[in-house]
Amino acid sequence: MRPWVRWLVLALAAAATLAAQPVRAVLVTGAPPGSRDTQFHLRLATAVAELERSRDPLLRELVAALRASSGVIVVRPLTEDPATWGTDRDRAHTAPADRRPRRLGRSTPTDAVVFLNRDAVDDGSAHWRGGVLVHELVHALDLSTGRYSADVRLRERRAVFLQNVWRHRVGYPLRASYHGRFATLDYQVASKRGEIADYGRYLFAGPDFPAEPPP
Ligand SMILES: [Zn+2]
Repeated sequence: MRPWVRWLVLALAAAATLAAQPVRAVLVTGAPPGSRDTQFHLRLATAVAELERSRDPLLRELVAALRASSGVIVVRPLTEDPATWGTDRDRAHTAPADRRPRRLGRSTPTDAVVFLNRDAVDDGSAHWRGGVLVHELVHALDLSTGRYSADVRLRERRAVFLQNVWRHRVGYPLRASYHGRFATLDYQVASKRGEIADYGRYLFAGPDFPAEPPP
């Protein structure tokens, strides 16, 4: 074999090996260049680091799963810029980076942009205690793992379940509905039945969730 042919074969083999490597997720907590929100991003990094060493195994697993998933997750504060707003300017939300409608669901890893209330990363604020960060990170995880259901109820029940794990930790009232539209009682039911870890397995292993409790 001529040397250049050998080189080509080796280079192609190396490229194929690289292509086969799973892309690791990046959870971007830093501020973009020139941002005026450096305080928000510093507090965000602290809040994520605290989740990472939480005494609750499911909250720790959330950050570990985010880091192990494919895709890039960027976090931004809600600002005066309407481009950061969702259904209204004060409500945190997580958008698929491909900008296609949420109702399509995603079964392949999809980058995500999380938009948070500024004070959601301020230790002790109402949004912090309410677990807005944890809620939105579940949506980001579902996108970045391709487990983002087309069914809004299913998506929100998964997010509120872990949000309630957080609320229980910090002693904040549990969330029982999704903006009054439907009940979100999975944490309450799992807690009563001693099945918190089982629900956690659903959250971190697939797109599904246990059947809704009867009303
Ligand atoms: Zn949600």
